Amino acid sequence: MSRLVVFSNRVPLGDKPSGGLVVALNDTMISQGGLWVGTETLESAPTENGAQLKPHPGATFERLTMGLTRDEHAQYYLGYSNSVLWPLFHGRADLLDVSTGQFSTYKAVNRRLAELSAPHLRPSDTIWIQDYHLIPLAMELRALGVSNPIGFFLHIPFPVASNIRALSDNAELLDWFSAYDLVGLQTQRDVANFIGAFRSLGHGELLPDGRIRYNNRFVRVASFPIGIDAEAFRAAAEQSPEMPEITTTAQKVMVGVDRLDYSKGLPHRLKGFQAFLREHGAVSDRITFLQIAPPTREDVQAYKDIRRELEQLSGEVNGEFGDIGYMPVQYIHRSIQRERLAGLFRRADIALVTPLNDGMNLVAKEYVAAQDPEDPGVLILSRFAGAAEQLAEGAILINPYDAASISEAIATAVAMPLEARQARHAAMWDQLTRYDNDWWTGTFLRTLGKAALSRRTSESFFIAAGE
Ligand code: UDP
Repeated sequence: MSRLVVFSNRVPLGDKPSGGLVVALNDTMISQGGLWVGTETLESAPTENGAQLKPHPGATFERLTMGLTRDEHAQYYLGYSNSVLWPLFHGRADLLDVSTGQFSTYKAVNRRLAELSAPHLRPSDTIWIQDYHLIPLAMELRALGVSNPIGFFLHIPFPVASNIRALSDNAELLDWFSAYDLVGLQTQRDVANFIGAFRSLGHGELLPDGRIRYNNRFVRVASFPIGIDAEAFRAAAEQSPEMPEITTTAQKVMVGVDRLDYSKGLPHRLKGFQAFLREHGAVSDRITFLQIAPPTREDVQAYKDIRRELEQLSGEVNGEFGDIGYMPVQYIHRSIQRERLAGLFRRADIALVTPLNDGMNLVAKEYVAAQDPEDPGVLILSRFAGAAEQLAEGAILINPYDAASISEAIATAVAMPLEARQARHAAMWDQLTRYDNDWWTGTFLRTLGKAALSRRTSESFFIAAGE
């Protein structure tokens, strides 16, 4: 059997992996073994910026990291990845923060990672590269003669072509993607955007079999919505202790859990809750809204701004509607362990998941998985979360830009009878168990195997035909 080699910016080094991508792949790597390669920011010694990869023994699979200097971290990670690609891919071209050196460092880091990893690769390896930090990696590996099947999975949304035009170097983006055998995206909408970008920016041709032909390279694209291990998450929720600390004078608990990122729509969400309290507060059950929003990328200005805005808004809502013994908004700017979240989700009557744009949103799936099927809570979900393509039947879908839409959804959720909650939950549970984490890895890797075979056939045909 072919060995799986995963590349991602971050490699799980501690006992408790966190973050959607790492959690999803960690289980696969533990069960089937393989090699996981990524980066690690060095605290000092810029001269040691990764002359070779560093092994991290102690896991059931092999782990290697390439050291990044502080400057590389600033330019490649905080800079091009998170101040250019992240906002652009999330439809926020207005937040692009382009400065000199980012683009060349982004490419240089990818090139060095390719050079240092190539000697560790075997001819029979299957290579799976993850996410926007490493888009050019396949092209760099190909330039070094690596002809293995190489797949890519983008965990964030794929932007519309008009947004890609905001990148000065947008032609390179298409070159990078076309070096893969298979590009996996979260949703059908992303696939449509991907094909649209190749057609309108690069004169790519969509072949009848669904592949894109671009400069005589052949890339297959398809959606593989990332899943969770729903059964395991449900078990964790069942086993988690009661949470007396969240028993408040409120009759209902509504929860939100998101990194404090501008794509998550947190200020809009609070305005939606505020609208609900204004319109329905007097007649409805009292609701406590518990928002957990751990810090993320705090060195980037846009993240400092969103923090200030959120703190101000939650103070405003509490000032307007709080009472002795009742604070409508509890805002926690800290990370909570995933196992504890499982218990919190099970206890919460409503989850408010209202991103303005989100690749998938695993919190939405985890909330559903954690519910007691006999007495489940209600998921309010943004139509702009990737998860909405799968959970439309069971969630209350809302427009996150519209406070009235959020307010109405909360009122509907509060009043929803048990039977309706059960039916909605059953529909979502069915999706979660059908398209779980094993489905995601298994289907992607099988499709990659086939894509690599047909690509070899097609490219040798065009080489033979002298095209
Ligand atoms: N998470 C966590 N602790 C927190 C906040 C989030 O363990 O305090 C986990 C959460 O359970 C989920 C992941 O981090 O598994 C977040 O994934 P999601 O797709 O919702 O958002 P992302 O952060 O990847 O944009």
